[in-house]
Amino acid sequence: MKAAVMTEFCQPLKIMDLPDPSPGPDSALIRVEACGICRSDWHLWQGDWAWMGIQPALPLVMGHELAGVVESVGADVHTFRPGDRITVPFHMACGRCEYCQTGRSNICLAHGAIGTHFNGGYGRLAVIPAADANLVRLPNGIDAVTAAALGCRYMTSYHALVDRAKLQPGEWVAVFGAGGVGLSAIQIAVSLGAQAVAVDISAAKLTLAKAEGAAAAVDAREQGAVERVREITGGGADLSVDAVGASDTALPALQSIRKGGRHVQIGLTGAKERGVLPLPVDVMLVQEISFIPSLGCPTTSYRGLLALVSSGKLNPKRLVTRCLPVEQASQVLDSMTTYGTVGFNVISEW
Ligand SMILES: [Zn+2]
Ligand SMILES: [Zn+2]
Repeated sequence: MKAAVMTEFCQPLKIMDLPDPSPGPDSALIRVEACGICRSDWHLWQGDWAWMGIQPALPLVMGHELAGVVESVGADVHTFRPGDRITVPFHMACGRCEYCQTGRSNICLAHGAIGTHFNGGYGRLAVIPAADANLVRLPNGIDAVTAAALGCRYMTSYHALVDRAKLQPGEWVAVFGAGGVGLSAIQIAVSLGAQAVAVDISAAKLTLAKAEGAAAAVDAREQGAVERVREITGGGADLSVDAVGASDTALPALQSIRKGGRHVQIGLTGAKERGVLPLPVDVMLVQEISFIPSLGCPTTSYRGLLALVSSGKLNPKRLVTRCLPVEQASQVLDSMTTYGTVGFNVISEW
């Protein structure tokens, strides 16, 4: 099978013809039809997350935002069969532990992350372990590119806003960082009847945020950006979102919240912060501000997310700026180094 392979960190991916993988008894073999290229891939490619214990063994086929068709299943797979159209979360679960049993398969991590700990969707074929627990069936009408665009981005935002932060209609959400995950958070917030204000340092991304339904956009490079958010939201947002993962976004996000508000952290930090953010805990205590970290999305929550897409309230495909052949994946990673990508890039040809 054809795949774009990372053989060295920070070096161009190599297009290779690898042996076809074969599924184990509880696994499924997927013919990948679309796979998003994500900033997480860029972090991996940079070797950024070594401090977190994430240093993938090379060579590696990256890609964790995939959708496709079940090609074959092992003898112990009971709920899926060849021909089923599916997507998967990036975090692979066992289906048996206490977290899987209580709807929290996102923190099972028994099998690690696809495209990180084992080969993923930059190849034409991918093996999904514990297929009954990890495959998510796609409704008719949701095509592979749309499903790949769900991401990790939409699914992360959906779980963060709905399951973790319990966003209510009418609330104000301040989204810091209008990249892929931030834009999807804005779309989801608006589709649920909330109002969003986008904060970013890029005029182009702020324009896109408004097109995706943000009621207001604030340029973080300008003086008084936090005051501006507080003013727009009538005294502070009910919920802030750090969709980047940096002191420069998380701290102003926390300062933008009203008393009793909450902050949801969906951006992992990079090599600069190495996982540590200095939080204003006294202010948070006095104002009873909650800091809520959120990871991915349990498979059980996809039902609500896919329903929003099927009903047309969410349109992930609108954020897909480019479908490309696998040969061009490396160039996309390159342009991410200078934040040169806007919207989603999806591999759709092998
Ligand atoms: Zn589990
Ligand atoms: Zn991703």
